[in-house]
Amino acid sequence: MNPFVELGIRHDIVNAITELGFEKPTPIQEQAVPVLLTGSNDFVGLAQTGTGKTAAFGLPLLELLDFSQKHPQALILCPTRELCLQISKDIEKFAKNIPNVHVVAVYGGASISDQLRQIRRGVHIVVATPGRMLDIIGRDAIDFSHVRYVVLDEADEMLNMGFQEDINNILSTTPDEKKTWLFSATMPAEVRRIAKNYMTDPYELTVGTKNSGNANIEHHYYVIRARDKYAAFKRIVDSNPEIFGIVFCRTKVETQEIAEALIKDGYNADSLHGDLSQQQRDKVMKRYRERSLQLLIATDVAARGIDVNDVTHVINYSLPDEIENYTHRSGRTARAGKTGISLSLVNLKELGKIRQIEKVIGKSFIKMDVPRGEAVVESQLFAMINKVQQVSVNDDHIDPYLPKIMESFADLSKEEIIKRFASLEFNRFLEYYQNAPDLNVDANERRGDFDRKGKTERFGRDGYKSDYTRLFINLGSVDDFTRGDILGYICNTTRISGKAIGKIDLKGVYTFFEVENASVDKVFSGFQDVDFNGRTVRVESAGEGRSESRGGSERRNRSFRNGPDNGGRRKRENGGGFRDFSGKRREKSRW
Ligand code: AMP
Repeated sequence: MNPFVELGIRHDIVNAITELGFEKPTPIQEQAVPVLLTGSNDFVGLAQTGTGKTAAFGLPLLELLDFSQKHPQALILCPTRELCLQISKDIEKFAKNIPNVHVVAVYGGASISDQLRQIRRGVHIVVATPGRMLDIIGRDAIDFSHVRYVVLDEADEMLNMGFQEDINNILSTTPDEKKTWLFSATMPAEVRRIAKNYMTDPYELTVGTKNSGNANIEHHYYVIRARDKYAAFKRIVDSNPEIFGIVFCRTKVETQEIAEALIKDGYNADSLHGDLSQQQRDKVMKRYRERSLQLLIATDVAARGIDVNDVTHVINYSLPDEIENYTHRSGRTARAGKTGISLSLVNLKELGKIRQIEKVIGKSFIKMDVPRGEAVVESQLFAMINKVQQVSVNDDHIDPYLPKIMESFADLSKEEIIKRFASLEFNRFLEYYQNAPDLNVDANERRGDFDRKGKTERFGRDGYKSDYTRLFINLGSVDDFTRGDILGYICNTTRISGKAIGKIDLKGVYTFFEVENASVDKVFSGFQDVDFNGRTVRVESAGEGRSESRGGSERRNRSFRNGPDNGGRRKRENGGGFRDFSGKRREKSRW
């Protein structure tokens, strides 16, 4: 008997999912479906993305709802538009052979009137992102009084995105006796609290070890100098010619820059981030799904809900601010039973973060060496040989040219011809990687990189020389910043690239940091009238003579707080409610 039928799923649905290639249930489906089919439990499922969660709740919903009654009976809340569309499409596919099943996807960034029209026509299952859902509820355009099941999918993500209050408001419009099914990749305290507040004695299910990543993912890390990051990244990509990857950056600016640099360097890459219009994002995703893009460079937020199978590598170009995001990032590979690699590029100072992630995911990272030039050349050569072996020959079209081709090669031996074909591609890489330096950092090496003082001269990523100026900012470790955090904060606030920032000296109540001379004015103007948690942020030139022990109150050479042109301007609030690697929340949580 078909194993899904054994689980209690009717033939019409089993036939539909068989067509989708579902031969046997995934572990979460095997364990969750029988429980959810009873329709009498609240439920908490701790499962990574890509484990088959959608069918785990979607199939039981299709069994439990009464499609002769045309009112919303199930509400599925999820964090992003992409996931919302994915879930609604999946459920429609599962329900292909059941007549009159109406599913509507409700999400922001698209016409609300179309969504309202679909709701008015009658709907059984609403799949929604919280913001747009609340908007529709606010217009009195939907009646949730008959809702029997609420699914909170990727609950941790929804909380991360600050949807707690919206979820509270939405749930308050549904009947008390409904059942709530919550799915989450991780179980931070906030998700626990939701389970406690909204559920009665929920059935709890953990697929795999608690908080541990997908067993099919290998976690690699490379230790490199910050300035060599891009070169190291390219080498890793070049030594994996068949790579189909998602590259995660921390900021929109970094995402855009890396994508542009890659495109300029001839890679098949594009970026996905929040500054793109929905139309642009859809276009990029379409190209990626169709595999006409090889590398998708994305921010965490933009990449949420991406469900593309066969992603071979997740590349953490920059580690995420929050450890939980690492799990989400790596979950984009090794989907549906496949294997994948999640690799991170770190400098010596970030090794601690790798150790912290290991603790959370319960798995060890493997330290890898950035491939030497020769290894990259070899990988490329054999990838090409492999292509030659695999290529399908169109005899009809090539045959007419053969006599002329043969004639051209008449004087060459077989070996000579092979050598020449192989050299076509080989020469390009050989030239590029000849004399390429070793980019690996010895873990015992002193951090000479970060030990220079004052105005310095150093070589940037592309080997150009650049001068740095040392600045002071009145934020430091007491504000719960790490070096990485303050780097991100400065870049986000001033819109300068992380590459323009040199050494960062994090102190208690203040920090010294170096900025390329060309970007100094941008930093000063970017910090005009900025508040951090109610405090005015002050940036000054540290000057050659500034003593670190003097603290923040003396010898202000240049301070835009007291500067000439800030009179009466509204202050910008620029504190973030995010968590750092120590797990501390920096600001009073919104939830
Ligand atoms: P999900 O975690 O629901 O996003 O599912 C991840 C991927 O696995 C999707 O592409 C599903 O179509 C696929 N999938 C889900 N369940 C099964 C199954 N039982 N057999 C094969 N593929 C599945």
